[in-house]
Amino acid sequence: MSGNEQFFGMVRNGEFYVFAPQHLEGATVKLTTTWIEEPHANESGVIDLAEFEGKIIEVSGRDSGKWIYSAKVVEEAGPVLSDFLKRVFLKDEVRQKRCALVIGHDKESPGIINKNRNLSEFQFNNQLYGLFEKKVKHTVICRVNRRFHAELPDDINELDPDFIISLHCNAGDGKTSGVEVLYYHKSQAGKRIAEILMKYLVEYLGLPNRGVIPKTSEDECGLLLRYSTAPCVIAKTFFMDNDADVNRAMDNLDGLADAFAKAIDEVSDNVKMEHQPIGTDGFI
Ligand SMILES: [Zn+2]
Repeated sequence: MSGNEQFFGMVRNGEFYVFAPQHLEGATVKLTTTWIEEPHANESGVIDLAEFEGKIIEVSGRDSGKWIYSAKVVEEAGPVLSDFLKRVFLKDEVRQKRCALVIGHDKESPGIINKNRNLSEFQFNNQLYGLFEKKVKHTVICRVNRRFHAELPDDINELDPDFIISLHCNAGDGKTSGVEVLYYHKSQAGKRIAEILMKYLVEYLGLPNRGVIPKTSEDECGLLLRYSTAPCVIAKTFFMDNDADVNRAMDNLDGLADAFAKAIDEVSDNVKMEHQPIGTDGFI
């Protein structure tokens, strides 16, 4: 049918964020297959854009401000054009670094548990994440749900983050106290990220600095550090089996969230990122 217009834009959160034509630039619209003459039927014809999330697409149809009617996804832009269009139309956002955030463990296997508080690593870090995610000012945070260890690096690499932080706690003899941050021993960027995170955590918590610790792929947690291409650190923020450490952390979770958020933004600003090649064997 003639009279259809062409639209370029990006799919964000399931909706179409329009780049062009100019009169719709910056608008978020929904796509429906229905005709403009059937306004009440919009929802029934809505096009599910999930498969295009984060992608640049060309759409044909007719617009009414909030909807594009008779809509059809014509084409998905290739990587070179996508990259160019994102740079032009998302100026500030594109410059923001992306941090993949992995919350260690899950509901079914929640990690180390502090019995006195009935608090698990997963519960703690999940709660903490909810707080600092909103405080981060100029870094895009992508949460990664943990699956099996072996698949985790692939899941993360698919997101193409600039850096990765995994949240854990420590366990010792019940008395050991302090902060540790682990990084892959060959990654200079990983070491810098670990140092920045350590600085903020120790400054806020006032717990002992147990050091930024280089790990090889054969160490515990080494798989994630080695097989994720972006620099990666594992924060062991305090000792979960030490009541004093737990009390300190729980004392003001919001303050700890602030420390994480500031550290993440400083990493975005100041660390020169370098990706490492994915190896299959022979690396330690
Ligand atoms: Zn853990």
